[in-house]
Amino acid sequence: AALPTRSTAEWRALDAAHALHPFTDYKALAAEGSRIITRADGVYLWDSEGTRILDGMAGLWCVNAGYGRRELVDAAARQMTALPYYNLFFKTATPPAIELARKLVELTPAGLNHVFFTNSGSEANDTVIRMVRQYWALEDQPERRVIIGRHNGYHGSTVAATAMGGMGAMRRQGGLPLPDFEHIREPNRLRYGPDQSPEDFGRAAAGWLEEAIQAIGPGRVAAFIGEPIQGAGGLIVPPPGYWAEIQRICANHGILLIADEVICGFGRTGRWFGSQTFDIRPDIMTLAKGLSSGYLPIAAVMVGDRVSRTLIDKGGEFIHGFTYSGHPTACAVALENISILEREGLVDRVREDIGPFLMERLEGLRDHPLVGEVRGKGLMAGVELIRDKDQHSFFAPVGRVGTRCRDHCFSNNVVIRAVEDTMVMAPPLIITRDQIETMVDTLARALDRTQ
Ligand code: PLP
Repeated sequence: AALPTRSTAEWRALDAAHALHPFTDYKALAAEGSRIITRADGVYLWDSEGTRILDGMAGLWCVNAGYGRRELVDAAARQMTALPYYNLFFKTATPPAIELARKLVELTPAGLNHVFFTNSGSEANDTVIRMVRQYWALEDQPERRVIIGRHNGYHGSTVAATAMGGMGAMRRQGGLPLPDFEHIREPNRLRYGPDQSPEDFGRAAAGWLEEAIQAIGPGRVAAFIGEPIQGAGGLIVPPPGYWAEIQRICANHGILLIADEVICGFGRTGRWFGSQTFDIRPDIMTLAKGLSSGYLPIAAVMVGDRVSRTLIDKGGEFIHGFTYSGHPTACAVALENISILEREGLVDRVREDIGPFLMERLEGLRDHPLVGEVRGKGLMAGVELIRDKDQHSFFAPVGRVGTRCRDHCFSNNVVIRAVEDTMVMAPPLIITRDQIETMVDTLARALDRTQ
């Protein structure tokens, strides 16, 4: 049966009566109410009043192929008709899960030859924690348990992924953090090295990993995890040389290198994976979001030969998994989504055309008195607002000005997110030049109105 027809006021009242939204201040939401999103096509959403909204965030950085893709609906319907659900437990497998694993191995950097499916990026990273520790246990070094992440790194919302992440307030809420997770500063030059050259800062920021390893004791460190470009923690683009040096330090100490590609994967940075953009050779890579363009929940852990050989050769049960790991319908949709990205050349388009165009247009905002830095790669960009450029002073309390600017954009029907005082954009990869102009012009007007 179709959903009932209701007025906007009715939807809002029901939402306020019953729903507890993720990452939301409930008191503030109760005062303001939700905007009800009812349909979408291309890069646009429509709300229950019929107003069209340009989605400059591709949902939550995930709708890479854009909305309204009939092929994905058909792929889901075909698979649900044939086999809506089965699992990979107890020595069974399904063709969509097998085919998707094969395709992911083909697309990802050489050496990542095995796949463990999950439903969300959080679960993928949670899986990594257990897998990495199991690897070291099987390698007879069970004392290697510590995973090093970065301040403001975001790896998800499960208890363990929160502990591995570096989002301060999130880690404190609910009695976290857990033991055996450490963090280094993120390579944020505006904060930590404004007077250094990008190259010097890149080397210095990677050196924080070496210092942490020495402080913890190299024999206790299992892995380092990072997003190629840090997304939810403020759109931090690594300085030149940073990842090469991180790679060298990990290799030197035999530490596993994990790339969280949940945002950067599937064309966001102009290559299939951020690891290719920054020449990272990870031992493990986590994928989600753009894997299915958000049409169904699915995520994956790509496991390199070093880890998979140990898990397979040494044997013993890996006591971990989810009812919906490798869900056949989600796998079928992900396969079709990848084939859309390939058929339409969307990844090359981001690198060669539309990504550089977005950055060029954003560069035009650099002289605005509120703009401290413009950064990005591909279709992933941030504009950090600053209180006083000459004094190099930031807003306090942090986030208030960014939120105001975001609200201006949203009331002008463009979704641009505020991560504290950084205005973040990550639109669908199909966005046109005209639509980028609209998005950037809306941001420019919002900056003028933001105090
Ligand atoms: N890792 C990164 C880099 C993310 O940006 C996110 C979500 O935004 C996650 C992990 C968590 O993914 P999910 O929300 O699917 O659990």
